[in-house]
Amino acid sequence: MTEAIETPATTWEYAPAPESTDIVRLEDRYGLFIGGEFVEPKSGRYFTTIAPATEEPLAEVAEADADDVAIAVDAAREASEPWRAIPGSERAKFVFRIARQLQERAREFAVLESMNGGKPIKESRDVDLPLAAAHFFYYAGWADKLEYAFPGRTPRPLGVAGQIIPWNFPMLMAAWKLAPALATGNTVVLKPAETTPLTALLLAEVIREAELPPGVVNIVTGAGATGAALVDADVDKIAFTGSTEVGKAIRRATAGSGKRLTLELGGKAANIVFEDAPLDQAVEGVVNGIFFNQGHVCCAGSRLLVQEPVFDVLLAKLKDRLQTLRVGDPLDKNTDIGAINSRAQLEKISELVDSGVAEGAEIYQPECALPERGFWFRPTLFTGVSQSHRIAREEIFGPVLSILTFRTPEEAVEKANNTPYGLSAGIWSEKGSRILWMADRLRAGVVWANTFNRFDPTSPFGGYKESGFGREGGLHGLEPYLELDGGAR
Ligand code: NDP
Repeated sequence: MTEAIETPATTWEYAPAPESTDIVRLEDRYGLFIGGEFVEPKSGRYFTTIAPATEEPLAEVAEADADDVAIAVDAAREASEPWRAIPGSERAKFVFRIARQLQERAREFAVLESMNGGKPIKESRDVDLPLAAAHFFYYAGWADKLEYAFPGRTPRPLGVAGQIIPWNFPMLMAAWKLAPALATGNTVVLKPAETTPLTALLLAEVIREAELPPGVVNIVTGAGATGAALVDADVDKIAFTGSTEVGKAIRRATAGSGKRLTLELGGKAANIVFEDAPLDQAVEGVVNGIFFNQGHVCCAGSRLLVQEPVFDVLLAKLKDRLQTLRVGDPLDKNTDIGAINSRAQLEKISELVDSGVAEGAEIYQPECALPERGFWFRPTLFTGVSQSHRIAREEIFGPVLSILTFRTPEEAVEKANNTPYGLSAGIWSEKGSRILWMADRLRAGVVWANTFNRFDPTSPFGGYKESGFGREGGLHGLEPYLELDGGAR
């Protein structure tokens, strides 16, 4: 008989797999993109944009004041008549060219997105950039078919759209805003978020390469005051994605002005797992639902509702899975959870997590080493959460999951809808009839079944209640940029 050979226990570590940053060429200083040119801001002010993973400065970026915004809006106004006069089939070619350029330069954009925003390169490379390009392709296809989209009505562009976007998906949100606006014949002033302006400024280069007429797209960088100035400027429409608080302020500011408005705001989505769900798949869906993009996702599945009989087994599986998540350098291709976008956001997450502990919920975080510099937060689960806890009610916008339980489908619906928000929801069950029954009753703009965080340019996205109004994506996404004679808005 041969003796069994003892093998030492081996821990398999991933070797570092850093994506090179050589492909990105940063300027020391960026102006505002107005009338097809980069110009110095009249304000004379610049701010520093950093890499949240290292806190290293990346570039100086212009801070537009109200005068700068007015100049950008004038440029968009001047470009408006000629742009709307171009036949749809020609406009489509410009939008198509942007899509092609994004594909050509996808790696450069993805690396810069991860540098400036902190998200893992595998997400910016495999999700943000392909989806951004897909949005431009999709809406290019609509540019010459608007009469078919709205039969019996005469679609006309609104004029100048002011568009304000957040820091969680800088390129994707720019695409969601620009593509339908351009395809429908509007001109645009876009305001990227203060912490993530760099990919929008690289997009300005693409817009020039695509030879869009000067003034059709203008990009003004700055902080909240720049956004507020754009809301007050002489624009025909405001499209905003961001916090509910700022959304409400914008609604107040635009009330009675005649400006059209769409708001895509916060969320506190329920991800609902029934006892008959495929549990291993559900665990992956739950992890994707809350840890994708560090949980900086408006439609994140931040409240997990688990049917009581499978609570213990699902929790054990989730804890095991959390042990395997790799937190660290966003530019490492193996990283699952990158850097928190800013110090302010890290403080907000920490404050809410502390409130969860203080209110009596039980916290679980896997052991994992965090880099010394930069902004980081461990993936976090809370059990013993009650509906009154702040962590069950407020949008944390970080890698933090609150777990609640339910017994019956009716109770799941009740709990899922017990929120001021209504952006998204997820259902995990093997029964189609149950999924349809639930989807009918959930007050959420998007309901995913046996999946989560799936996006497609053909599919409309938007919220109920304090998650905002108006839809982006799909045929529905054209409407907020059009005057439709003879019909409702
Ligand atoms: P904001 O809503 O402040 O930011 C969204 C965009 O609006 C940014 O471009 C911002 O500029 C701009 N902005 C800020 N104030 C005004 C204003 N008064 N008028 C017009 N535009 C304005 O979100 P924050 O970045 O401050 O994040 C705060 C919280 O909001 C997060 O913790 C998160 O919970 C939530 N959030 C939700 C998002 C969602 O998609 N649901 C997206 C982002 C945040 P700037 O960033 O330069 O100040």
